[in-house]
Amino acid sequence: MLIYPKFYCNNVREVTLDFLQKNNIKGIILDVDNTLVDFYKKFEEGTIEWVQNLKQAGIKFCIVSNTNKVEKVTYVAKTLDVPYFYFSKKPLKTGFLKAKKEMGLESKNIAAIGDQIMTDVIGANRCKMFSILVKPIAEKDIFITKIKRPIENKIIDKYLKKIKKEKV
Ligand SMILES: [Mg+2]
Repeated sequence: MLIYPKFYCNNVREVTLDFLQKNNIKGIILDVDNTLVDFYKKFEEGTIEWVQNLKQAGIKFCIVSNTNKVEKVTYVAKTLDVPYFYFSKKPLKTGFLKAKKEMGLESKNIAAIGDQIMTDVIGANRCKMFSILVKPIAEKDIFITKIKRPIENKIIDKYLKKIKKEKV
């Protein structure tokens, strides 16, 4: 299903090197808002180290953000020292494909992590990448995200029921 993530977890730090290796992932596309930083551009504790450690293990990174706030994306990208694309219009494929080219990897070896089904998950699935949905850092979100959340939550509920069924 295009709307379901391949993996759902609390935050980016739960995506471990072991998990990536088991799933043959060599590169990660990252969303910015509510995935890496909150409304005030603040990183959650351990997130910067998480990127550094995975980079040292050879995992490639690229930021693909829908925001038009250039200054915000550059701040995050420079802090993490990773390439970035902004104003990407996810779930359109463009940003994902630019990141894929930048990392020089095949789609099947790329995971895309984000907090929104409608943009991050659907976009990644359309590109046949490994979609990972994380819980949003803060609910102090931009207006448009607030509108989308009730629908997102319904989809997540359905998804969790589905994977619970599959595990039985
Ligand atoms: Mg986001």
